[in-house]
Amino acid sequence: MKRKIINISRPRQMTLWERAYLPEAVRGLYTTLRHVFMKKVTVEYPDEEMPIHENFRALHRLNTDDDGNLLCVACMLCATVCPANCITIVAGESDDPDIEKYPVSYDIDMGRCIFCGFCEEACPKAAIELTKNYRLADYDKSTFKYDKEQLSNTPITRRKKE
Ligand code: SF4
Ligand code: SF4
Repeated sequence: MKRKIINISRPRQMTLWERAYLPEAVRGLYTTLRHVFMKKVTVEYPDEEMPIHENFRALHRLNTDDDGNLLCVACMLCATVCPANCITIVAGESDDPDIEKYPVSYDIDMGRCIFCGFCEEACPKAAIELTKNYRLADYDKSTFKYDKEQLSNTPITRRKKE
């Protein structure tokens, strides 16, 4: 078998200036000091917050009318369109003759939600919307399941409608 010869070049030798060490240390110090006085780019979250884009989508809110009744009529469109399958609704017959059904329970598993906004788009009653409330982080997975009461108490931080 024919042997292949590979030439490996030696690494470049350090110059006298580099070997002196001190100039390089001074250069490193200069770089550090230069960054100390540069414009701050980090944000001290949660004491400070970054501005949120007007179309940012986060925690859902179930909207109510002026009397505090949920606008949802349990039509199931949001649950049907949801690509993550994270909306669970149990419908019941409404006492109101003008409304056929109401949500006996309405749950969203935020741990599965991808915040696509399809549920909001599909709703014929503007009963659900995604707010800018993004403080959802937790160590306990069970806290990501939001029920009707929690969703209707989401603070109103509406996104700008296109
Ligand atoms: S935002 Fe998307 S994934 Fe989340 S509940 Fe609505 S439709 Fe489902
Ligand atoms: S939130 Fe809207 S789309 Fe979903 S069940 Fe209620 S009325 Fe229907």
